[in-house]
Amino acid sequence: MSKSISIAVVGSGYVGLVAAACFAEMGHQVICVDNDEKKVEMLRAGGVPIHEDYLPELLARHANQTLKFTTDLRAATQASQVIFIAVGTPQSKTGSADLSYVDAVASEIARSIDDYKVIVEKSTVPVYTNEWIRRVIERNGVPRDLFDIASNPEFLREGTAVVDFLHGDRIVVGADSERSSGLLASIYEPLSSGSYYVSEQAVPGFRTLDNPTPVLRTTTKAAELIKHASNAFLAMKISFINVVGNICEAVGADVEQVAQGIGTDSRIGPKFLKAGIGYGGSCFPKDVAAFRYVGEQLGVDFGLLAEVEKINAEQKKRFFQKVRSALWTFRAKRIAVLGLAFKGGTDDLRDSPALEIIDLLLKEGSIVTAYDPAAMERAKAVLPPSDTMRYAADSYAAAQDADALLVLTDWQEFAELDLDRMHYTLRYPIVIDGRNLFDPVTMLQRGFTYLSIGRMGVHPTRE
Ligand code: NAD
Repeated sequence: MSKSISIAVVGSGYVGLVAAACFAEMGHQVICVDNDEKKVEMLRAGGVPIHEDYLPELLARHANQTLKFTTDLRAATQASQVIFIAVGTPQSKTGSADLSYVDAVASEIARSIDDYKVIVEKSTVPVYTNEWIRRVIERNGVPRDLFDIASNPEFLREGTAVVDFLHGDRIVVGADSERSSGLLASIYEPLSSGSYYVSEQAVPGFRTLDNPTPVLRTTTKAAELIKHASNAFLAMKISFINVVGNICEAVGADVEQVAQGIGTDSRIGPKFLKAGIGYGGSCFPKDVAAFRYVGEQLGVDFGLLAEVEKINAEQKKRFFQKVRSALWTFRAKRIAVLGLAFKGGTDDLRDSPALEIIDLLLKEGSIVTAYDPAAMERAKAVLPPSDTMRYAADSYAAAQDADALLVLTDWQEFAELDLDRMHYTLRYPIVIDGRNLFDPVTMLQRGFTYLSIGRMGVHPTRE
């Protein structure tokens, strides 16, 4: 049985709440802190503020027992050996990461420190942030031997966050003292030793893997860089395949075949080689920009990242042009949109390409009816229902009498649609698929005009 450690996690969002629930699941005593009182109340009352598989089960098992919720950062700091900072680090106007939330939390922690603490950057932050946090804490009069700063970047993906957290490819422990490195690594001991086990009965459907997760011990600076470099690399892979897809379209090749041919090379790997409407979400856009900014500040030309961003922006415009080429004009056209979240499996709308495309459709005068399995409530707050922006209860209701159907998020349930039913539901059987969820030959056989990404469009022969 590994040691139970007292932990505070500051910020109960996609990362903080999942990390806190998983730490409790691993046997630790956890206090989850957020300054959003409504969220804390909801969590205390047994609510689940975000859509993540297995999170409701974990919260039901641990909430208000080994997992507590509070707005009181001071009390949480004093009760904990290790404090994880997991607040947002959004993009500022210059492209750099806005670290004001991290700064505010660090100052408050500093004013609460009474004995040795390890303060861990869980948020994605630029290299050198640990130095700034150290300065903030020292400035508040805390002696240097009462704290250490460490970095433990998070690699979970929204939609599969719990599984990713408990069965990641690696755990990065970035610390500059033996004491903090040891304490941080010991938190993850149940995962790194392979002793963590969740029974099928406790969390139905959860897959427990046998293989322990390797721990990579680095300096704090290296850990900060690992996270930015990972996200920038993945975004680069996406932009790369999107341009390859555009070349495929120009010559009549199929990007799915090309991606398979590239991805089976073990030096490259198959993941993140999916052509589509470009990356979005709360991480890639801001992290690519922030990493580019880090380069700029250090006098290192990382023009490659500027190109990655440019390609990504172009990809959405190209898709919109594709819709135009199918519909000719937009005014008063009824367009069904499947998917609002930035990717399947999540309700997160931050920087979602789907919202950008809907915005363009609305500006052109179209009437949009959208459906998303998880993100509709959040979407209604950003795009309120109106005569031109409507929400439907399912995919078929969205498609009713529509002039075309756009697929903008890769939800599995869209890939499993009943195509015959969809065909007679639509006014015109036109599908423009930004996520390549369907096979063009099948779509042609079912009588659809079908346009996708990096593949030739198909049209039923006209008499
Ligand atoms: P989020 O916006 O979902 O959650 C942040 C939470 O912090 C919110 O609940 C907010 O109320 C709270 N908060 C803000 N200021 C606070 C304060 N002073 N005191 C207490 N709570 C405060 O953000 P997120 O998606 O969880 O991302 C958090 C960090 O993790 C970011 O740096 C992000 O880049 C990184 N990250 C995110 C993901 C992801 O998939 N979302 C993956 C890896 C890393």
